[in-house]
Formats: sequence, structure tokens, C-alpha cells
Amino acid sequence: MNSIQKNPHRRFNPLSGEWLVVSPQRTQRPWQGQEESEVPETLLSHDPNCYLCPGNSRAGGARNPEYRETYSFINDFSALLPEQGDEKPVDHGLFYAVPERGICKVICFSPRHDLTVARMSSSEIRRIVDLWIAEYRELSMVDFISYVQIFENRGEVMGCSNPHPHGQIWSNENIPELPAKETQRQKAYFDTNKSLLLLDYLDAELKNKERIIYTNKDFVVLVPFWALWPYETMILPRRRVGTIDELEGNERDNLADAISKLTIRYDNLFRTSFPYSMGIHGAPCDGKAYQGWQMHLHYYPPLLRSASIKKFMVGYELLATPQRDITPEQAAAILRELPEKHYLEVKRD
Ligand code: ZN
Repeated sequence: MNSIQKNPHRRFNPLSGEWLVVSPQRTQRPWQGQEESEVPETLLSHDPNCYLCPGNSRAGGARNPEYRETYSFINDFSALLPEQGDEKPVDHGLFYAVPERGICKVICFSPRHDLTVARMSSSEIRRIVDLWIAEYRELSMVDFISYVQIFENRGEVMGCSNPHPHGQIWSNENIPELPAKETQRQKAYFDTNKSLLLLDYLDAELKNKERIIYTNKDFVVLVPFWALWPYETMILPRRRVGTIDELEGNERDNLADAISKLTIRYDNLFRTSFPYSMGIHGAPCDGKAYQGWQMHLHYYPPLLRSASIKKFMVGYELLATPQRDITPEQAAAILRELPEKHYLEVKRD
């Protein structure tokens, strides 16, 4: 694979069936090293104006309980609603629209306003994993729900206005576009090979090693061969796991450990509270069998060169196909070498 480290090429994403352009020749200059640290914003541990802090009231009048660990509630501004409206579908040739039901929730990761996942202990992150699983179980049991999308949007640059550590879950009646593509691709692979696309992929990556960032007994953190964002990563289970609720006790601990090790590296990369969108993908919950599905986490961080320089998906990428400069192998090497201790903790020592 060394022949494609220097010259422009295309890479194929077997999970989505899409291509991207890689242009390594644009980053011939060596890695410039650490940029200036961002002065961390000092946050209160409880902000009286935060609608997610314990005991505070939210828009619409609801009040949060004095929760001590994690807390979830139906989004006060849900994108989808569980009740079917009285409108009829639109189906006039080129004009086609159908009603869509869903349930949207907000999940608070901690009562502490000033924490981020990267600053939490593995046991605190384990509570988030348990919350994801409890929410997944409840929502996937709802008869009209076919897919449960758990995600976290972190940082103002990602459009997240509230620093209180939290995530969201949108669950809906139909399988959304990206999970539907992954469903179709993994099924096709399974039908042809009688094995799982992402387990075969993981085997190959573990042999190759150059895109591996971190491993523990149950999970592997890597930069996928087809990564699109500069420091995009995936967390993959080592055994066959269709949906997150199949994880057992020790595996949940090890997922929390993998998340901790990754998010600390992310913060250490540019010595900033690193923004990203994280999402958990797994098999749909519409009652059908999905033998080819392997659960995984995607991390899509926008930063490219420093705390303030981000990658934009514009121009050619918006109109033709996505493109990246720094190769996935370079990104993996940089992330792998970073310390596993948070830079703010090191300073305090
Ligand atoms: Zn996925």
C-alpha cells in the first residue's frame, strides 16, 4: 500500500459505497508540531442559566431533577414527533412526501456543567455507555421505531451551543439514509462472503497496524482507510456485536476505556477541547434479522491544523466528491503517538 502515500488517488469506502479523493502531495512539508494552546474557557460546575444543569428549568417550563449521574428527557424541540398528524402523504409524480414519526431525546452525561467526555474518568464514561444502552433498549421496543440513532455533537464549531456534556438520540419510523446504506453494503458483503465486512476489515487492519491508534481486549480505535475528515476515527468491537445493547459488563467498561483514550488524544492534538460529531451505528430495530451488521462508533472531527483551522466541505467536495490532503496513515500515526494523559492534567502535576 506504500505506492499510494505520495500521489493523488481515490479511495473506496466499502461501508457507504462512496469514493473520496486523497491528495498527499499537498502536505509534503513536515508536521509543524503543536500550535499555541488555546486558553481554556473557565466554566462553572453548575451554571444557573444552563437548561441542562440539575434543578434548572428548561424552555417550555419543565424543570430538571437534581440528578447526580446521568439524566435523559424528551427533547423540548423535537425534530420528529411520536403522534401521526392528520395530513395525507403527497404523491403527485415528482412531488412525493410522507409523514414520519419519531422520538427525540436529550441525554445529560453528567451533572457537572464544566466536564467533557475527555475529562471524565472511564467509570464516569461507563455510566454514559449504560445510559445509551438503557435508552436504546427502551426506544427500540417502541413498535413504530425502526432505527435508533445515538449521537453527540460537541463544540461550538459543530453548532453545539451548550457546553454542558450531553448527547442526543433521534429514533424514527424509517431507517435513515446513512444507516440504510451501511445496511445494504454489509448485507451484500455478508451474502457474498458469509462473513462480516467490518470484522474482516478489522482483521486486515490489525495485521497491517498503520492505521491503529489504540486497542484493548474488546475494542479497536483506528483511522479508517477511507477516512474523509482529517482526524476521523472509528471504534470497532473485536467480536460480532449487532447493536450496542448486546455488550456485556466488561465490554462496556472497555468501550468506555476506548472512548476515554481517544477523546484525550483528540484534546491533546491541538491542546484544545476538541470538537466532533460522534455517532453509534448498529443494526435497525424493525424486527428483521441483520446478520451482516456490526455495531461501531464514528467520530467526525472538523479540525485540520490547529484549534482554529478547520476543514471545510465546500466547492468540489460539495459539488463532486470529498477530498482530503493529510493521509489517513499520517493522521493515525499522529494520534497514536499522542500521550494518554490529558494535557490539562499534566499541567496540574
Ligand atoms: Zn457507520
